[in-house]
Amino acid sequence: MITYKGTVIRPPSEADSLLIQVTYGCSHDKCAFCGTYPGKAFKIRTFAEIKADLEWAKKNIDGEFRRIFLCDGDAMCLSFNKLMEILNLINSLFPDIQRIGIYANARNILAKTEEELTEFSRNKLTIAYLGLESGSDKILKAVNKGSTAREMTDAVIRAQKCGIKMSVIGLLGLGGRKLSREHALETARVCNAMNPRFLSFLTLMLVPGTPLCDDYENGRFELLTAGEMLEELHLIVTNLELNGTIFRTNHASNYAPLEGTLPKDKDKLLRLLKTYLRGEAPVKDEFWRGL
Ligand code: SF4
Repeated sequence: MITYKGTVIRPPSEADSLLIQVTYGCSHDKCAFCGTYPGKAFKIRTFAEIKADLEWAKKNIDGEFRRIFLCDGDAMCLSFNKLMEILNLINSLFPDIQRIGIYANARNILAKTEEELTEFSRNKLTIAYLGLESGSDKILKAVNKGSTAREMTDAVIRAQKCGIKMSVIGLLGLGGRKLSREHALETARVCNAMNPRFLSFLTLMLVPGTPLCDDYENGRFELLTAGEMLEELHLIVTNLELNGTIFRTNHASNYAPLEGTLPKDKDKLLRLLKTYLRGEAPVKDEFWRGL
């Protein structure tokens, strides 16, 4: 069997992918809103452990998946050589694999040269998911993201130049009520500078035990209402000027599921958002929201 340790997450678009843990936890593990890997000390698994999982998959479920997703939090933190060793093994065991995906942060993309990133994409690592969360440096610093908007922009541009499609993820409500407008405008501005292939938004849910939840409980952070979250999203979409980006809010945390290609569907998305804002379409009940 494939051995999984602790919570294992993947993006919605990797629902049918074979999940292989390359690391346990996240190399940063300091974001104030994140409760994804509680108590899971960061560790890079050994090549022998990863190989055992891939060989089990080859023997038992080959043909049942077309994509592989490398977990956990940011497997891109591996050195070029370590990641190439894993990509080479995947390609030799599964020559028909369609693509390999990974979570990445700005620092571990920028630590790779263009030649190294191009070598990854040649070996089917063709999609990476990066949590931008916000385009506002004030908010990024407040939530201890560990990267600036400029670093994330450079990382996305560099990876895409090397054939890795970037899927950038924003987090609605992260500026609270006080910084909602700045969050929306700066996030749109930074997304425009990145022009990612995919752009999606999650909606903030406070996780007990995290510093942000603590701030909320002590009156230092105001959580937006569903309507305010959607107003914020409306302001973001209004200001997006993207070219050929697939836009989605299909994550379980969102109040309204939207999907379209920008710029083609911008007016349609804004009209749909207005129907939610005017109460003509029901927003998702809190009960059905999840992370
Ligand atoms: S949000 Fe991402 S980068 Fe931040 S601690 Fe959680 S897994 Fe790590």
